[in-house]
Amino acid sequence: MRSRTDLVEDLMQRFPHVPREAVIKEDLLRGGLAFDDSALSDNEDGEVKPKSYFIFSFDHRTLPELGTAALRRPPEEIVLTGGPYELRRTVVSVRVNPDSPYQVRADEDGALRLFLDGRPIADVGLPPMPEYYRHKLSGGKSVMEIAPTIQWGYLIYLTVFRVCQYFGAKEECQYCDINHNWRQHKAAGRPYTGVKPVDEVLEAMEIIDRYDTSGMSKAYTLTGGSVTSKVDGLAEADFYGRYAEAIEQRFPGRWIGKVVAQALPKADVQRFRDYGIRIYHPNFEVWDKRLFELFCPGKERYVGRAEWHRRILDSAEVFGPRNVIPNFVAGVEMAKPFGFDTVDEAIASTTEGLEYFMSRGITPRFTTWCPEPTTPLGSTNPQGAPLEYHIRLLEAYRATMDAHGLSSPPGYGPPGAGNAVFSVSSFMDSLPPAEESEPEARAALSVPPAGPAPAGEPA
Ligand code: SF4
Repeated sequence: MRSRTDLVEDLMQRFPHVPREAVIKEDLLRGGLAFDDSALSDNEDGEVKPKSYFIFSFDHRTLPELGTAALRRPPEEIVLTGGPYELRRTVVSVRVNPDSPYQVRADEDGALRLFLDGRPIADVGLPPMPEYYRHKLSGGKSVMEIAPTIQWGYLIYLTVFRVCQYFGAKEECQYCDINHNWRQHKAAGRPYTGVKPVDEVLEAMEIIDRYDTSGMSKAYTLTGGSVTSKVDGLAEADFYGRYAEAIEQRFPGRWIGKVVAQALPKADVQRFRDYGIRIYHPNFEVWDKRLFELFCPGKERYVGRAEWHRRILDSAEVFGPRNVIPNFVAGVEMAKPFGFDTVDEAIASTTEGLEYFMSRGITPRFTTWCPEPTTPLGSTNPQGAPLEYHIRLLEAYRATMDAHGLSSPPGYGPPGAGNAVFSVSSFMDSLPPAEESEPEARAALSVPPAGPAPAGEPA
């Protein structure tokens, strides 16, 4: 029988222009990895930055099925280097799967390594506990709970609404476990704030600002479930916008502000911009019409695919096309029983979507589908999509980008194998290297230079 190593090496050989780092990273993201107990964190009391469960579970088992990893969290991310494939520095988000052929454990010499099919294939670095995680908010909550950072500290991830108002089988996106993740953390007795108060978010940001002395954190993302009615008496644009307004008043230009929200009407999108947001992610999820209707029943019912796409184009008039970056969930278009049967068909469909947006100057990006077990698509497709699909998507993405003269989207840190920090897909690892120049990115985004608060503002 063909081993996973055979599969990986065959793809590295057939697609030599896709970085080997990206092949390993995609395989880890779609299928997860196992952790020896010695490679787990000591939660918030140790030296390793623990997995924060920043929005979805991104695990291949429910918490009660994770064994020791449910009690001592795995690290938020790992960084891979070296080994037989001579990997350049590769940051990978951690998705736990106790049955994965990939395992992180200490070698005989005591150094942590990534093993595939029992063979060491990379050195493993763990993220150090950031100083700002060691300080609590005045009410006792942790910074990790209110304002976790991911992408090796680049991005502050503010899931300010921990559930989604698309609820149940007829509305929830069929690959999304946001509502289940809420329930499982509550059931485990973990702190998990449903609607994060603005003042708690500000307090956590102050702690990050004070202790992130090397300036690693460059951006924040405001996100959470969709708001179809109201939260705290506010509709979606004003609910998410109020956090940006407070952050920008308190820390003008300190971070690049982003929001992941529904594709809203243009007037609402303008409000996001007025509140201080600089990058808008109205995620289109999956391109194919039939699959969108099946996989995103709530979005189809409340907004509809055609209107969703129209609104994405409209939002480019507000933010500028470079700063509209809709996400899709790479791989769900191959989920059985409804998805495409062949990689060729799936790539052709997704490329059509990339062409639609990129020909208009809008650069989508994607996260690699993690088939979480409590979702309808994850439960019927525990292996996720074929690895070949993910590798060919990287190829198609770069080719479409080149054809339209586009470069890596702003707000993701530097592109290129060995440089990228974006951890939930390898699209940034597979683009050509080019240092993201912070002043240039800020100028393009109309973000004022970072610096001390102006006189008259609270210090
Ligand atoms: S809109 Fe869909 S993907 Fe987004 S949180 Fe709700 S169910 Fe999940």
